[in-house]
Amino acid sequence: ECLESKEVFELLKQIDSNCLVVIDGAYQEFAKAKDSNKAICPKNLTEMFPNAIYLGTFSKAYGLGGMRVGYGIAKQEIIQSLLKLRPPFNITTLSLAAALEALKDQKHIEKSIQNNLTQMPLFERFATEKGFKYTPSYTNFITYYFESPLDSTQIADYLLQKGMIIRNLASYGLNAIRITLGTEEQNKKFFMLFQQYLENRN
Ligand SMILES: *Cc1c(COP(=O)(O)O)cnc(C)c1O
Repeated sequence: ECLESKEVFELLKQIDSNCLVVIDGAYQEFAKAKDSNKAICPKNLTEMFPNAIYLGTFSKAYGLGGMRVGYGIAKQEIIQSLLKLRPPFNITTLSLAAALEALKDQKHIEKSIQNNLTQMPLFERFATEKGFKYTPSYTNFITYYFESPLDSTQIADYLLQKGMIIRNLASYGLNAIRITLGTEEQNKKFFMLFQQYLENRN
């Protein structure tokens, strides 16, 4: 479930202004592109709620997962306190350089968000055609839920053997998988392999 920004603000209004609230905006770029009602602008957020800090990451829409680089936006007072705690050089020079380059390449990020927007309906349609339930997504991944005899562990193993890594959610007690969307070509391969799996098991 993805809250609307209004709902997030309603929640924040009910929290004591002495209490620091962290808003994790990891998937904000995707959510905002799909539905502007979900958009949280860090500047508006911290103006309205000086006790809030907005966190952004370069690991998702910017494609720099593994670089361990992100950012926080908050009122100066909060940032000053964080600076007292922050170890020197807590982000590597290389990660910072990569983040700066990623920021400059707005075309690339727009393309990757657009790709996600056009590919997501294909994953929804595939699920509907096959009769799987799914969670409507405001991110770059989608969750498929299966019913017996389909088994998420078998499916994940099959795809892995074919060279495709998806997340099996069995360890969460769910007969479900989580798929991170790729390029059009990668996604086509996923549908093809999944179709193959379904046909072979009959
Ligand atoms: C990916 C992610 C982050 C940030 O990850 P980093 O690689 O540490 O920047 C934060 N919150 C959620 C929910 C995420 O999925």
